[in-house]
Amino acid sequence: MDVLIVGAGPTGLTLGIDLARRGVEALVVERSANLFPGSRGKGLQPRTLEVFDDLGVIEAIRAAGGPYPPRMIWNDGEAVGGQPVFDRIESDEGTPYTEPLMVPQWRTQEILYARLRELGGRVAFGREVTGLEQDAEGVTARFADGTTARARYVVAADGGRSAVRRAVGVGMTGETVDPAPFLVADVRLNGLDRDHWHMFRGADGGGVALCPLAGTDEFQVQARLPEGSETGLRLDDVRELVAAYTPLEREDVVELRWSSHFRPRAALADRFRVGRVFLAGDAAHVHSPAGGQGLNTSVQDAYNLGWKLGAVLRDGAPETLLDSYEEERRANAAAMLELSTGVHRGEVRRGRATVQLGLNYRESSLSLETRTDPAGVRAGDRAPDGTVSGIRLFDAFRGPHWTLLGGRSSDAGVRALPAAPESYGPGVFLIRPDGHVGWAGESAQGLAEYARRTGVFAAG
Ligand SMILES: Cc1cc2nc3c(=O)[nH]c(=O)nc-3n(C[C@H](O)[C@H](O)[C@H](O)COP(=O)(O)OP(=O)(O)OC[C@H]3O[C@@H](n4cnc5c(N)ncnc54)[C@H](O)[C@@H]3O)c2cc1C
Repeated sequence: MDVLIVGAGPTGLTLGIDLARRGVEALVVERSANLFPGSRGKGLQPRTLEVFDDLGVIEAIRAAGGPYPPRMIWNDGEAVGGQPVFDRIESDEGTPYTEPLMVPQWRTQEILYARLRELGGRVAFGREVTGLEQDAEGVTARFADGTTARARYVVAADGGRSAVRRAVGVGMTGETVDPAPFLVADVRLNGLDRDHWHMFRGADGGGVALCPLAGTDEFQVQARLPEGSETGLRLDDVRELVAAYTPLEREDVVELRWSSHFRPRAALADRFRVGRVFLAGDAAHVHSPAGGQGLNTSVQDAYNLGWKLGAVLRDGAPETLLDSYEEERRANAAAMLELSTGVHRGEVRRGRATVQLGLNYRESSLSLETRTDPAGVRAGDRAPDGTVSGIRLFDAFRGPHWTLLGGRSSDAGVRALPAAPESYGPGVFLIRPDGHVGWAGESAQGLAEYARRTGVFAAG
């Protein structure tokens, strides 16, 4: 097979979808018997919504989710005031999605899985990778049941404790963000309205936040325990925490559906690629959940890698194209870690910085800005929405192809429009399949050379 994806979390499923729609032969293998059952990564950032629009799941995601309710701060058993969770960002023609959407992670994964299956992709459940060996032609992965599988490339999408990362000997460099242990759980409870994200702080340094989960009858519990303390994961343990920090009684927590411990850490893998093995998602970076960056950054990793693997495996692009994955995504993950640590410590607000719309690859060797005096959108930038001759750009971008704004192309992998919208500034723009401007020029001169490097042959 072409690509073995290890792990059916948001990273593995997104990559599976992108490869399936490109006709790349891929298999997702998952250690568990089922998809992950908890709500943990519940915030989908606007940039992720744009990706989901491209991947054909935005309607299902919108139907499953809802907006974040305002925070309600409680003091001594009294609700003392609400405040919005995010700074408001005005929407305009270039940015149709400006507000994060709340969707429990298990629901996002269900939707991604359904889309993967619709495209003919597959997850093999109950398949745990325990090790691998690679040579010049491919990678042989070993499974816990003693079997093996051979693929041209392997992607480690197996989460923060990644066995694949360990198998290829890549270390993580990082720090503890908060010395306190945390508990996260999904519960059904009585006695609180579902219009607010309720926050309760204790005098002992601990606290509990209860967030109504959009599209469900559940609340997500996030508890920060006093440093050095411990708690179990059973219904009784969660009841005890809720009764200790909130005005609710133990019995108000009526059902526990999922629970887990975590300790906020910020760490980055020293490399994102070792030969034919790529690290993506939490396997490549772990961080505090504050600010809702983890799942989103993971989806962006997959979206960045998917088209590059497709270009090399299907369109004859040179193998060196794959080097740009680490170049682009490791720098981005490092910036994201700084951001989520800043949000966790109360130093950065949730708003323009956390929606991921400003994410760009201007410094990448894959971004070619050939105009002498560029105005507006530049090579490496996210390509904003807009309208050309009555066609909405996000409609034109949707799908696995490239888009040329202001030129002609006879390549089936390129969709050409006569011009770029005024908001882009003057020029010709080649938009990558992941919605970033790859090349920008005053005319199409020089575009063919760029196209050869990236597997788009006949643009010009
Ligand atoms: C409390 C909490 C709240 C969070 N809130 C947010 C939020 O609001 N927004 C946000 O963006 N992110 C949030 N996150 C982070 C988010 O959950 C993760 O970043 C995201 O799940 C990463 O996706 P992934 O696919 O890379 O890894 P995972 O979701 O961890 O998936 C890895 C998969 O690989 C499987 N696997 C592991 N080892 C093997 C193996 N050896 N062989 C085969 N399969 C294997 C696992 O079973 C799992 O299914 C939060 C995290 C926590 C803990």
